Amino acid sequence: MHKKNVLITIIIKLFALFLLSGCSNESTKAFQAMNTLMTVRSFGLKSEKANKAVQKRISELEETISTTRTTSEIFVLNHSNDGKGIFSKDASILLDFSLSMAKKTNGALNPCLYPITTAWGFTTENFRVPPQTEIDSLLPLTDFTKVQTIKAESQGKKTAVVSVILPQFNRKNMQLDFGAVGKGYAGDEAIKILKSCGIKSAILDLGGNVQVLGGKKSSDGSVSDWNIGVKSPWGGEPAGGVKIRDKCVITSGGYERYFEDENGKRYIHIMDSKTGRPAEPDVASVTIVADTGIYGDALSTALFVMGKEKAIEFWRTYNDFEMIIIIDQDSIAFTEGLKDSFKLLQPFKNIQIINH
Ligand code: AMP
Ligand code: MG
Repeated sequence: MHKKNVLITIIIKLFALFLLSGCSNESTKAFQAMNTLMTVRSFGLKSEKANKAVQKRISELEETISTTRTTSEIFVLNHSNDGKGIFSKDASILLDFSLSMAKKTNGALNPCLYPITTAWGFTTENFRVPPQTEIDSLLPLTDFTKVQTIKAESQGKKTAVVSVILPQFNRKNMQLDFGAVGKGYAGDEAIKILKSCGIKSAILDLGGNVQVLGGKKSSDGSVSDWNIGVKSPWGGEPAGGVKIRDKCVITSGGYERYFEDENGKRYIHIMDSKTGRPAEPDVASVTIVADTGIYGDALSTALFVMGKEKAIEFWRTYNDFEMIIIIDQDSIAFTEGLKDSFKLLQPFKNIQIINH
């Protein structure tokens, strides 16, 4: 072949390769944030840039709502002398949403349990069973109806949205914790960023909270549902798989973080705000399938605390999400909306489909 023709052929081949790789461009980014491993996998021309922007946004969010970083808006408020602080947009949204969910779930989700989780050692990992007198003295601090917010003016560089006032009891501060909703909100913000970068297909795993954008894109360009594993509370293979698009799959369970006393009694990291003690529900885990991460995350925690019957009652009342309840190694229940999309992968003996 003539030299010139060879060159043209090479250029055409390179161009075709460029187009092909452009169409199926995919990148994955893993990073540590909010005390957990997070992974973002997105498809599209700007996937790498988009994933970077997601990491930046989640780190920024962590700076704002961390309970342990001394400069976060939450830390500053929780450790103030007068219980007063200023929240910018993210913390304001999370506070507003948590308080409304606390009301809706009758305190099963409660953003004011930080003094209780601290007393049990979950914030420092110095685990202990506090005496009942100590728990009783802390319970008034968990009354979420006492949190006050006042619309605020912008202050300096940060756009202040609300002034928050937390009353004090027994000369102790009320304290906030968005641990039950923060990762869900981070997922929603990540999806917004991916969309703004033109991404139409992505999957996020934020420490077990799975959230997807669109459907799954194959190398041939076809799009199918994402198949998300629902963890077994006892480890090993997933209990089942659920097919979704544009949704989240979020699980709460006692198996995630806990300690045991000298008699082998287990104390888990999810608290029952009625008793000030770790929750002891009649279920092993609750998985929520919802449209937004913040709602799915709030519900997984709250409905786990409620236990089976109250969770089912809640689902029947609101009817705007689906759920899978693993009761024990033999029994599982899931809502009728998942009948076609949820496939069991373990040999449960009792399978209940929850109807209206
Ligand atoms: P999750 O893993 O989403 O169920 O959230 C659990 C985290 O939320 C805990 O590690 C605590 O920081 C916080 N938390 C524990 N119990 C509750 C509760 N009943 N309501 C709200 N937050 C809670
Ligand atoms: Mg949660």
